[in-house]
Amino acid sequence: MTGPFTIAIDGPAAAGKGTISKAVAAALGLGHLDTGLLYRAVGVKTLDGLAPVDAAQALTSEDLQRDDLRGPEAAQAASKVAVIAEVRAALVDFQRAFARRAGGAVLDGRDIGTVICPQAEVKLFVTASAEVRAKRRFLELSATGQADTLEEVLADVKARDDRDMNRAEAPLKPAPDAVVIDTSDLSIEQAVAQAIALIETRQQQP
Ligand code: C5P
Repeated sequence: MTGPFTIAIDGPAAAGKGTISKAVAAALGLGHLDTGLLYRAVGVKTLDGLAPVDAAQALTSEDLQRDDLRGPEAAQAASKVAVIAEVRAALVDFQRAFARRAGGAVLDGRDIGTVICPQAEVKLFVTASAEVRAKRRFLELSATGQADTLEEVLADVKARDDRDMNRAEAPLKPAPDAVVIDTSDLSIEQAVAQAIALIETRQQQP
């Protein structure tokens, strides 16, 4: 594959889109951008005291390497800066350029199929119930010693869903032509296999 070929994978927190995106990119030899990291990097800079729009406009690749981007504080800070139109605007060009890079790309986030790349050749919306997602995130965080209780993780997931789905700018929702994959009752292997099968079917269409 040489020309642009974009796979947009959107969905709420901990639905499995990161895992699916990485596996799809590796299986098909495509670049992968986890766009949540951009918002997390802006979010942690605001925790450092920067103004959100300044932080977004001055974002560097080193900011994306910080080791405090994966925790719950970064996630909440990300979803707070993500409601700001100027923050989102500052991150658009980088994401669009990545999406249309030669050789093809997988981008995962909240608004890839709706706003960043509505012309994406494949759009997936990966979701799961809030309870299943909270349990997965709880297990993930426990493994790295960062977990609160399951109830706290569920409350965090719901607060983030609410902010992401009900914001005015680029709210989280499936694009009209997205294929929905509900991973509530799927293993990682099954979810990845479903995604790859859908993409391969799409690649074979003229
Ligand atoms: O995907 P992740 O959980 O790392 O994203 C963190 C937060 O960044 C999300 O809750 C959301 O508020 C924001 N985000 C966004 N648009 C994206 C990716 C992430 O608004 N494309």
